[in-house]
Amino acid sequence: MNTWPGGKRHAIHQYEHEKWNAKNYPGTRQLCTKCDEPTGRCEEDALLDEETGEPLCEDCWKKQEQEASRE
Ligand SMILES: [Zn+2]
Repeated sequence: MNTWPGGKRHAIHQYEHEKWNAKNYPGTRQLCTKCDEPTGRCEEDALLDEETGEPLCEDCWKKQEQEASRE
């Protein structure tokens, strides 16, 4: 399931990441753009990075919220 091209999980570019995402999680499942873990959410209830609009997992989203509230 979680087989990355060549096993180079962190060496692929964002573009490749998106392609991998689309292929492995068609439409309904997303990977966090910060930690690469599945967000466990689908497009309708996705948690999005406020700046980039990219999907985040709950942990990264909460961290972002905490950081935002500190400013
Ligand atoms: Zn994350």
